Amino acid sequence: MSPNIAAILYLAAGIFFILALRGLSSPETSRRGNYFGMAGMAIAIGVTLILAGASGMTLVLIIAGIAVGGTIGAVIARRIPMTAMPQLVAAFHSLVGMSAVLVAAAALYRPEAFGIATAGGGLKGLSLFELAMGSAIGAITFTGSVVAFTKLQGLVSGAPVVFKGQHWLNLGMGVAIAVFVVFLVASGGEAKTAFWILTLIAFVLGVTLIIPIGGADMPVVISMLNSYSGWAAAALGFTLENTALLITGALVGSSGAILSYIMCKGMNRSFISVILGGFGGESAGPADGGPQGMVKQGSAEDAAFILKNARKVIIVPGYGMAVAQAQHALKEMADAMKAEGVDVAYAIHPVAGRMPGHMNVLLAEAQVPYDEVFELEDINSEFSNADVAFVIGANDVTNPAAKEDPQSPIFGMPVLEVWKAGTVFFIKRSLGSGYAGIDNSLFFRDNTMMLLGDAKKMTESIVKSMH
Ligand code: NDP
Repeated sequence: MSPNIAAILYLAAGIFFILALRGLSSPETSRRGNYFGMAGMAIAIGVTLILAGASGMTLVLIIAGIAVGGTIGAVIARRIPMTAMPQLVAAFHSLVGMSAVLVAAAALYRPEAFGIATAGGGLKGLSLFELAMGSAIGAITFTGSVVAFTKLQGLVSGAPVVFKGQHWLNLGMGVAIAVFVVFLVASGGEAKTAFWILTLIAFVLGVTLIIPIGGADMPVVISMLNSYSGWAAAALGFTLENTALLITGALVGSSGAILSYIMCKGMNRSFISVILGGFGGESAGPADGGPQGMVKQGSAEDAAFILKNARKVIIVPGYGMAVAQAQHALKEMADAMKAEGVDVAYAIHPVAGRMPGHMNVLLAEAQVPYDEVFELEDINSEFSNADVAFVIGANDVTNPAAKEDPQSPIFGMPVLEVWKAGTVFFIKRSLGSGYAGIDNSLFFRDNTMMLLGDAKKMTESIVKSMH
């Protein structure tokens, strides 16, 4: 294949990836977006194999690798519950990070195998710089993602791990990596130990960057690691002179960075602080003693009566709805209310559930009309006009501490102001806390009625009581 044709095909793959990202921006077009992404990846892999002239046993091994990896990926993707998606994404990012390290090492030891060796058999200074950066970012992504995975999976506590001088230590390691990059480049690639030392430091830096980040900031971390994995791939795209890798890496890197920035804005966090290794989650942990007071507990019949007679009801779904898979019962409840002339809307917090867009996907699955679903900034002012805020399995995203308590780890994060509605229903199993591990004083307010139980069972009982 001529280099020109390959360049055009790589460009086509890049365009498919851009269309994929565009498609993924809305639940209505996300399926199509995925197909575009798959088409782009098929072109990129095909062209790379042809360009590399892979044949015989090598080709068989590569295809076998793709088949085994693809099958494992497909099985995991089919089986994984939506609630475990963030940790799956973190696990996959770790693989991208590790492959960046391995490819960089392979390019350092055998540049001729990639067709990037100089006449003397070594590597250009610029290539050395790129592969060192690719390896460093890849190593940070690997260990950072592993830590994020263990936190999200509940294998270790989600609470932030902070110690004195943490930021200085991180800064020191960043400087040390830069020094060893210079060593490697200055030695013309001879100082292979420098490569391994800088990679090792980067592995440690990945851990120290992510451990101080508290549960409430985890969504930002996931998309930040996504961005890092993209930049690691882009750096190697330069080294290997592979346009497809360069375009894909840059797209992943920049879209991840933009998403992180949007989330930081949404959660009122400083983007730079999170990039530098967690801020804001530093005091996470249950509030001392927890809020106390009287709790009003209601039954499904009470809820059904109030809901049917309301004028306007705003539903606030959260993680508990996802765990209980209550979205279909919820849609049925909304339909029953609409039949009684109730105005029904859904309010989605940007980090409700365990990944961005989690609630939108579940509501779409239950065929909730898109025009009933509103983002936080579009609906928050409506709670004061609503008779009922129906909070189902959500907790942190409604916590007034974010507005009222400067000591709270989620202080400053925008929350759905459900307490402004006439009556607030909370369906959850206990008075326990949510992901951020902090108490919610709303449970004890006069206009709150707790509907204690599993989200699906309770909603089904409400539907039954409505008929
Ligand atoms: P929360 O985690 O704050 O609360 C969920 C509540 O659901 C819990 O308090 C729990 O209470 C309840 N629950 C659990 N299982 C059930 C069930 N079967 N039936 C009924 N209730 C149930 O969820 P939110 O959606 O309000 O907030 C999301 C949190 O997750 C935020 O802190 C956010 O920062 C974080 N996060 C978000 C990510 C994202 O990208 N969206 C990624 C990672 C973290 P009980 O045990 O009493 O039933």
